Amino acid sequence: MRLFRLSPRSIPSALALLAALAALAPRGARAQERQIDYAALRDETVRAMSEYLQINTTNPPGNELATAKWLQSFLAKEGIEGEILDTAELGKGRANFYARLKGDGSQKAIALVHHMDVVPSNAELWSVPPFSGAVKDGYVWGRGALDMKSEGIIHLMSMVALKRAGVHLTRDIVFIANSDEEVEGTGAVIFTHNHADLLKDVEFLITEGEGTNVENGVVKWFAIGVAEKRAYWLRLVAHGTTAHGSIPRADNPVPRLARAVARAAAWQTPIHLLPAVDRFFKAEATLETGEHRTWLANAKAALATPRGRAFILSDPYRNAILRNTIAPTVLTGSNRTNIIPPVASAELDIRLMPDEDTTAFKRELARVIGDSSVHIEVMPGVMPSYSADINTALVRAVEAQIHEMLPGVPVTTPLAAGATDRPTYSHAGIQAYGLEPYIVENKEEERGVHGVDERLSIANIEFGLKLITGMIRRMQ
Ligand SMILES: [Zn+2]
Repeated sequence: MRLFRLSPRSIPSALALLAALAALAPRGARAQERQIDYAALRDETVRAMSEYLQINTTNPPGNELATAKWLQSFLAKEGIEGEILDTAELGKGRANFYARLKGDGSQKAIALVHHMDVVPSNAELWSVPPFSGAVKDGYVWGRGALDMKSEGIIHLMSMVALKRAGVHLTRDIVFIANSDEEVEGTGAVIFTHNHADLLKDVEFLITEGEGTNVENGVVKWFAIGVAEKRAYWLRLVAHGTTAHGSIPRADNPVPRLARAVARAAAWQTPIHLLPAVDRFFKAEATLETGEHRTWLANAKAALATPRGRAFILSDPYRNAILRNTIAPTVLTGSNRTNIIPPVASAELDIRLMPDEDTTAFKRELARVIGDSSVHIEVMPGVMPSYSADINTALVRAVEAQIHEMLPGVPVTTPLAAGATDRPTYSHAGIQAYGLEPYIVENKEEERGVHGVDERLSIANIEFGLKLITGMIRRMQ
């Protein structure tokens, strides 16, 4: 409900009057805006989320066309036209979805992006059926309640609430729902490929994130994801001549491969402190005491000292966000003890820093291995690199909003070890951030995401609505 309603005939003159008033009013004046009733919005969001979670979009096969249609009809009731896209390219039962709430265009757009698919669920291990959308014990339950249909509904209802409240937007709000994030990410890839025109004015984007740290009800830090490590999987292959093990030959590929794997694994890759990681360590420092605090508060200095460096690198996660890592995993050779195989191979799970050049890395690895008879092959599925700036209007808006909602909680920028659709959008020239609009206990998150009894508390739904609407308002 608005403060006043316009009849169709009065629109031109009323719009002219409003424009004239807007021109007179100081920038940021909120004269025509209505307050958002967050309690009512929360209850409405709970109902919408429950319905959305009841649509089974387990991937494979996905079935995201059903959620796309649900979004389209929901937004139609709000006077926002949504488009179902890419159905031919994505295949039967699949789709991407796009809608836009217009601002005055004086600033660039913000995109709210989620994926509609969910991972399979082991229904017998759940306390409620995974597609029940049950609302009980203060939670909305269902596969996707954390990853990430709930976030999509918080995006949806935030956009709707801003429209209903008549908030003056200088930036368009673009709402995108993709298919197939959980398997191959084809939804985002096809969307960015086919619809560059829909994205060309988008400056910022938020989608799923990770890294907010909540333990026993205490929020240790709130996270905005600004970068991801990049999977760059390689296979080492050594060739030789097959022979009987009783008469070994010098060109047995197994020991050569083993030597190459050992050298790759032992390689102390250079340490590279990104600004986002430095900022993450500073947030960690606030939870420590003594020299641990000193070292984390100034990681650059600590990494230059033997004890500080040893302390920081002793934590596997900290080590992983400071350097390229190499983990040998799969080995193949002979399947008979007495047969020397003609070929032996090893697969390396390599995770590169976001700004690493793959060609330079591969050349350096070949030098470290030091055996030109061991071939290095790139395995399929290399993602584009991704990192976003840590000092932008969006990051500042999230910080300000979190400081208001969670006073004293640091906002930080961890480097993600996992993969999302962010690199795909980042490649399209957008500053893409990972923002989980709720504060979920670490244990709850570990249990629910891709696990059992995935659920989101109703209190967190209200938190999310305040965070997203607050963030958007601060960016106008
Ligand atoms: Zn996800």
